[in-house]
Amino acid sequence: MENKNIEEIVKKVLESMMGGAPASSRGASAGTVPKTARVAKLVEKGRFELQEYPIPEVGDGDILVKVEGCGVCGTDAHEFKNDPFGLIPVVLGHEGTGEIVKMGKNVKKDSAGKDLHLGDKVVTCMIFKDNPDITMFDLNKQNVGGADVYGLLPDDDKHFNGWFSDYILIRAGSTVFNVSDLDLNSRVLIEPCAVLVHAVERAKSTGILRFNSRVAVQGCGPIGLICIAVLRTMGVENITAVDGEPKRLEFAKRMGANKTVNFKEYKGIENLAKAVEDSFGGHLADFAFQCTGSPVAHSNIYKFIRNGGGLCELGFFINGGDATINPHFDICAKEITTVGSWVYTLRDYATTFDFLKRAKGIGLPMDDLITHRFPLEQINEALQTNLSMQGLKIAIINK
Ligand SMILES: [Zn+2]
Repeated sequence: MENKNIEEIVKKVLESMMGGAPASSRGASAGTVPKTARVAKLVEKGRFELQEYPIPEVGDGDILVKVEGCGVCGTDAHEFKNDPFGLIPVVLGHEGTGEIVKMGKNVKKDSAGKDLHLGDKVVTCMIFKDNPDITMFDLNKQNVGGADVYGLLPDDDKHFNGWFSDYILIRAGSTVFNVSDLDLNSRVLIEPCAVLVHAVERAKSTGILRFNSRVAVQGCGPIGLICIAVLRTMGVENITAVDGEPKRLEFAKRMGANKTVNFKEYKGIENLAKAVEDSFGGHLADFAFQCTGSPVAHSNIYKFIRNGGGLCELGFFINGGDATINPHFDICAKEITTVGSWVYTLRDYATTFDFLKRAKGIGLPMDDLITHRFPLEQINEALQTNLSMQGLKIAIINK
């Protein structure tokens, strides 16, 4: 057979695989993409329903991702229980990751400039709107709190816009990162870890947090535990974890806290502050991170901090009510520098990929943060498990 004929045959076969159009005019797809797929839609408070929809057309700048897994966030749990954001009906899930199975012809690189190919593992961060204040990798611009995020969008006619689903359609103009060099557990943890990378950046902006600082971390849920991990990976070793659950304090030690204080064992804030002071060998903390959503915990934490020390408050993702402090004793007289922290910037997101590699590299038990895994069919149970405060990170795993 002549070469020319072979070329002709190959071209014909390729064309028939692409549905008759010349191969060059279409985006690429891997394997077989089904015609329909499921999303888990929150149809009323407390109830997700699996619904099947046609997979939408993938535009020239769009990416179709087969979802592998997605963490359940406290935000999802609030929305599941009370719909505080008024999003119902909604496909939730913003801590997701998966594999590119189809992409438009204009898609070449991710938001950090890395090449994108079929089969690459990706995560998304924010969806860009025409807002000049949300700019890639500019620390002086606002954080992601002002932007749209997949998994917190009202349902639309395309439907595949949350990660609690079989597939998600990443629309042109969204951020996307190639994280093929991270395993599935790490990829599911990127979003919550970015919250802590940002918090530690905020803490560093005070100029008080140093390698040899004595640091108190109050609250040992996933946020507090990851806070300890971020501090450990940057070389901070003198960490005291404060919580009321012995199991969580045990985990805090495995994560790198060298002392723990169970607040339930101390009556009154003076005794509790003394226990924290004792944990640092008779010194108060140079810096403290407040990682609970409890107003009382916020009031208490000032007592753990030395004169001239610093505080990062990051526990209040929703309005948890007012906290009482004494401005004279707690702030003025001690000259405490306080920073608040809220979600992350895009730069923090990219930093988080490296943090996860370092955390595993120094043997921190990051994988053990994911204590419960559910298939998509059991999403209602997954959310109930989160609300019942069992375990640490709950995840939906699709395979
Ligand atoms: Zn989240």
